[in-house]
Amino acid sequence: MTTTANMKEVVQQKWDKRPLIISGPCSAESEEQMVGTAKLLAETGKVDMIRAGIWKPRTRPGMFEGMGTKSLPWLQQARKVTGLPTTVEVATGKQVEDALTFDVDVLWIGARTTVNPFSVQEVADALKGVDVPVLIKNPMNPDLELWSGAVERVARAGIKQIGLIHRGFFSYGNAEYRNVPMWHLAIEMKLRYPEMMMINDPSHICGKRDNLLEVAQKAINLDFDGLMIESHYDIANAMSDAKQQVTPADLDKMLSAIQWRKKDVNSAEYHSALEKLRQDINMLDDELMQILGKRMKIADQIGLYKKKNNITILQTGRWNDVLERAYSTGAKLGLSKDFIGKYLDAIHIESINHQNNVME
Ligand code: PEP
Ligand code: MN
Repeated sequence: MTTTANMKEVVQQKWDKRPLIISGPCSAESEEQMVGTAKLLAETGKVDMIRAGIWKPRTRPGMFEGMGTKSLPWLQQARKVTGLPTTVEVATGKQVEDALTFDVDVLWIGARTTVNPFSVQEVADALKGVDVPVLIKNPMNPDLELWSGAVERVARAGIKQIGLIHRGFFSYGNAEYRNVPMWHLAIEMKLRYPEMMMINDPSHICGKRDNLLEVAQKAINLDFDGLMIESHYDIANAMSDAKQQVTPADLDKMLSAIQWRKKDVNSAEYHSALEKLRQDINMLDDELMQILGKRMKIADQIGLYKKKNNITILQTGRWNDVLERAYSTGAKLGLSKDFIGKYLDAIHIESINHQNNVME
């Protein structure tokens, strides 16, 4: 049996392990489901930590809100039987207290909590003087300041081990994902906190099983430190998030299918080839800057003519021509329409600002 003292060491080992794999049901539903699922996950030999939702923040009242504090002993039993550390979502000071009373090893702050500084502060206050690792999910909305704010509140409470979970962002009308990944935001957060672990939660990004592997693979390609994936031993009867949970056997297959990537390799040939290509990119980036500078100088000149002739800056007909030309040239060069659109938007804004400065 794992004693409390050596469980601390196990938690530390798992926290430092790459990739770190966290799995378990969306919600703890019964002792049998919790322990049964955890055992199967442990038997894969690929899972490092068992997750479970104890208190579920649900969008509408009347939906299954988790079994609450009475389900914590089930998780404690799963921990005892498998020897694996456990992690649960906490959203209030009382939930922090209850989770710690039942030996939960790692706490996580959910997306619906990260959005609310009052709630994050309440959780942080309950963490004062406690030595427990905390994972912080991105907020529902794509706001990195809220995510950073939560990190700062938890850090100021004295928590030394903080990790991040990227679970995607709510976006109105999106059908492809339950929560759009917006990978660039996770990457920006990785740049802000280079020492902090960043794991990916494909389950809440996808909302369904079909593309879990694809999203997980992309995260690993982007050098994420691990994955949190929901798993339930009876997916058809799961009481929450049934569509996105996978059986432990399918999780095992998925984890085997992932191409795990290294950060680096000890090969002189690889390093010198990469160095050369990076220099090429730097040179082209410099050229692009020069060209963009020239383009803006021409915009300034156009601004002067418009000023002299008292003409408005925005000429929609002309702008549509610019777009059409760029889409067609871009397509021939293998540049996506989405990229061209974003690129030209940025250029257009800068160009309008330049002309506006000239006018004034
Ligand atoms: C969960 O992990 O079950 C959960 C509710 O996640 P999120 O906070 O990302 O919605
Ligand atoms: Mn869930």
